[in-house]
Amino acid sequence: MISRKRRKTRTIRVGKLLIGGDNPVSVQSMCNTDTRDIRATLRQISELEDAGCEIVRVAVPNMDAAQKLGAVKKRMKIPLVADIHFDWRLALEAVKQGVDKIRINPGNIGDKSRVIEVVKACKSAGIPIRIGVNSGSLKSLKKITGKPKWTTGQWAEIMAKEALDEVKVLEDMNFRDIVVSLKADDIERTILANKIFAGKSDIPLHLGVTEAGTFISGAVKSAIGLGFLLKEGIGDTIRVSLTENPVMEVRTAYEILKSLVLRTYGPEIISCPVCGRAEVNIEKVVKEIEKKIFSDKNLLKKSKGKKIAVMGCAVNGPGEAKEADFGVCGGKGRGVWIEKGKQVKVLKEKDWIAEIIKKIAAM
Ligand code: SF4
Repeated sequence: MISRKRRKTRTIRVGKLLIGGDNPVSVQSMCNTDTRDIRATLRQISELEDAGCEIVRVAVPNMDAAQKLGAVKKRMKIPLVADIHFDWRLALEAVKQGVDKIRINPGNIGDKSRVIEVVKACKSAGIPIRIGVNSGSLKSLKKITGKPKWTTGQWAEIMAKEALDEVKVLEDMNFRDIVVSLKADDIERTILANKIFAGKSDIPLHLGVTEAGTFISGAVKSAIGLGFLLKEGIGDTIRVSLTENPVMEVRTAYEILKSLVLRTYGPEIISCPVCGRAEVNIEKVVKEIEKKIFSDKNLLKKSKGKKIAVMGCAVNGPGEAKEADFGVCGGKGRGVWIEKGKQVKVLKEKDWIAEIIKKIAAM
C-alpha cells in the first residue's frame, strides 16, 4: 500500500497555482527555445499547456531575453518562471516584466548584497523565489581545487546546508515565499539532500534529478529518485529533466505521479506487448492514439482515469481487456470492440483509432 501522507509545508502562491500545503504535487517543465524568439517560445509553452504542464520556466541568459519576458507572459495561461544564473540584474528585469516566480542559484548569483536586491524586488512584486541548489555549482566547490573527496553523505549535507544558508538570507528579510530544490545528477545525493532539508524546514520542495539524460535513462532515474521521495511524502512540485521535447517531461512526470496514485492524468492505456499471434501493428496504433490524446487538452480531460485497451489478438485480448472501460482486440484486418468487458461490435482495423477518439470526444 502506498502511503499518501505528505510532509507538512507552508503554501506558496505562484500566479494562480499553489505549491505545498495540501495542494496536489504540481508538474512543471522548462522550455528549450531561445527566449528571445517569442513565437517559438510561445509555441512550445502552448504545447506544454496542452499536455497539462502547470508551471513553465524559461532561460534568461541575457538582458535581451529578460526584456522579452513580458511579451511571453502576456500570451500564456500557466505561471511563468524566470531562470536566473550569474547576473542578478536579469532577475530585477524579469520581475519588472511581470514573471510569476524567480529561480536563482545561490552558487552563482554572487554576494549577499545582490541576493538582497533580488529579494527586495520580489517582495514588492509579491512573487516567490526558488532557491535552486545544484550539486555542480555549490559555493563550497569553489573553495577546493580538483575533484572533491566528499562522500555521498557529505555532498548531500553540503547541498542542504547551502540551501538553508540562502533561506536564512531571505527569511532575515522577512521573505517567506520560498521554494527550494536540491538537485544532483545521481539519485543518491538527490534523495539524501532532499531528506536532510525536509527534516529541517517547512519550505516546499521542487524535486528533480538534474541532467538526467535522454528519454529512457532520464525517465528511469527520475522515476526512481523522485518516486522514492514522493513515496515518503517529500516533494510538492516536480520537474523531470530530459534531453527531449519538454512535452515528454510533462508526460513522464504525470506517469510518475499516477503510479504513486498522487495525480490522475489522461487515460490508462492497456496495450499488450504483442507476440507472434498479432496480425495488427499494435505499436503503431497505440502510439497514434497516445499522440492524439496527449496533444489535445480536451481529449486528455475527457479520458482522465479511463482504461482503454488495445490488444493484439482475440486469444488473450478480450480476457486481458476485461477491466477496461472500452477498447479493441485485434484480428486480421479487423477487431472486436469491447465495452465494460462485453464484445459489442466488429470494427475494421482502419477505423480503430477514429473510433477510440470518437468515444473519448463523446464523453
Ligand atoms: S493479446 Fe494476443 S497478441 Fe497480444 S501479447 Fe497477448 S496473445 Fe500476444
